Amino acid sequence: MRPGRVACHSNLLFVVSRDPRSRSTSWRLTLASVSTVPPYQSPIAPGRSYYEDTVERPAYPPLEGALSVDVAIVGGGFTGLSAAVHLARSGASVVVLEAHRFGDGASGRNGGQMGTGQRLWPLELEAEYGPDKAKRLFKLGEEAKAHLFDFVEANGLDVDLGRGQLSIAHKARYLDEYQRTAEVLAERYDYPHARYMDAAETAERVGSARYFGGMRDTGTGHLNPMKLVVATARLAAESGAALHEGTKVERFEERGDRSVVVTERGEISAGHVLVATNAYGHDLAPAVDAHVMPIGSFIGATEPLGDETVLPGGEACDDSRFVVRYFRKSADNRLLFGGREAYTSAAGDITRHIRTQIAEVYPRLKDVRLTHAWGGNVAITMKRMPYVRRLSPTMTTIGGYSGHGVLLSNFAGRLFAERFAGNRDRLAELEDLDIPAFPGGKRLRFPLMVLAMTYFSLRDRF
Ligand SMILES: Cc1cc2nc3c(=O)[nH]c(=O)nc-3n(C[C@H](O)[C@H](O)[C@H](O)COP(=O)(O)OP(=O)(O)OC[C@H]3O[C@@H](n4cnc5c(N)ncnc54)[C@H](O)[C@@H]3O)c2cc1C
Repeated sequence: MRPGRVACHSNLLFVVSRDPRSRSTSWRLTLASVSTVPPYQSPIAPGRSYYEDTVERPAYPPLEGALSVDVAIVGGGFTGLSAAVHLARSGASVVVLEAHRFGDGASGRNGGQMGTGQRLWPLELEAEYGPDKAKRLFKLGEEAKAHLFDFVEANGLDVDLGRGQLSIAHKARYLDEYQRTAEVLAERYDYPHARYMDAAETAERVGSARYFGGMRDTGTGHLNPMKLVVATARLAAESGAALHEGTKVERFEERGDRSVVVTERGEISAGHVLVATNAYGHDLAPAVDAHVMPIGSFIGATEPLGDETVLPGGEACDDSRFVVRYFRKSADNRLLFGGREAYTSAAGDITRHIRTQIAEVYPRLKDVRLTHAWGGNVAITMKRMPYVRRLSPTMTTIGGYSGHGVLLSNFAGRLFAERFAGNRDRLAELEDLDIPAFPGGKRLRFPLMVLAMTYFSLRDRF
């Protein structure tokens, strides 16, 4: 036996040394220290999320060498992993390449709120696209919802599914819009699950008297996004997709009628490439950079609450602020509160900001302890609708869900698989949206955006 470290198991470090009390050459084994292995944290987003502590994340090996496949998917969030499941199930050969770990982008760190229809509400959709297209887009959003519920149920997934959404007005001037939206949903959109709430009902359902009224939607829900990421990756692997983490795509090359995806230690020749990098694919595809803007959004998780009056019905909540506050309770009764957006890369003190916002809604929780505080990039577009585009005959990008991706991204992955299999082309409905590039080019678009956002967040206050 030789002196020195012999084993480091979990957090325990054992050391072998000569026993000083013994004249013979006997050795002793001592527990030398308890080392703390830092818990894993996404390298592309600030803070460790609460979801990390709710599920084991199996590791997938980096890509080494060359491969030839039908479809190469870049980005292992909901969009990429969902596409992989449905492509592999339809018999295509598929590989998913993720620069870090699956779910390290927005998909494993979001608010988990599904919402209804599209990010734009029916009246906004009608103003933008006219009544017929508005109805088709709303229906597509509802198909996305049915798809997600079915996917979870058919595969027996445990994703902490909760039911219901409260959309609430932080200023009285927004009440008409909520009332009208509930009516329009029922009368013109065949959606009977949304109902207007007055101030008293809102106060009771939210557990706070800070809001003026709103809309209760019993037809939707919320979930633990990291559990969904982990489960979707497992289903993709079981269906035959090759999954690689720690594999950053450096560039694309066109070779004949195929695309070649180049990584540090390998390359893949693919009949088609899906670029599913959303708000994280900086400089990989110039068209995506021009049309999709990353915006930081931040969430805090409290310790489990003893207070049963906070969201007693278990619904998720989003408010009328342009810089929206969104909150819900976790399966173990914590308040998960999202509310701060940042347009610079510095996250600042997330805990302090989120605690202040929690105290505004729930003054009785002003001293509550936050066990986790984290953030990530939301991908927004000029029209707050998804960006779907053919980048070349052999490359497609899908993303830019503008805060509505829990519902849409999982479905968009399936729509891509449908298109690839030549079954149906419902993706075309989103591709037709004709999302414009952000003005100002690469240099000016960001400062212009910050100006616009600052204006809207000031308006939220008055
Ligand atoms: C804090 C926060 C709260 C949110 N809350 C909600 C909510 O409540 N409801 C809702 O509907 N939406 C919400 N969203 C948005 C939602 O999470 C996204 O719309 C959705 O997860 C997008 O999934 P995606 O697969 O397209 O992208 P992502 O999950 O971001 O995945 C993109 C992946 O691409 C990888 N990648 C990038 N470049 C490369 C490269 N060169 N090579 C290989 N891989 C690469 C990244 O590492 C990343 O994992 C929220 C987002 C955030 C950040």
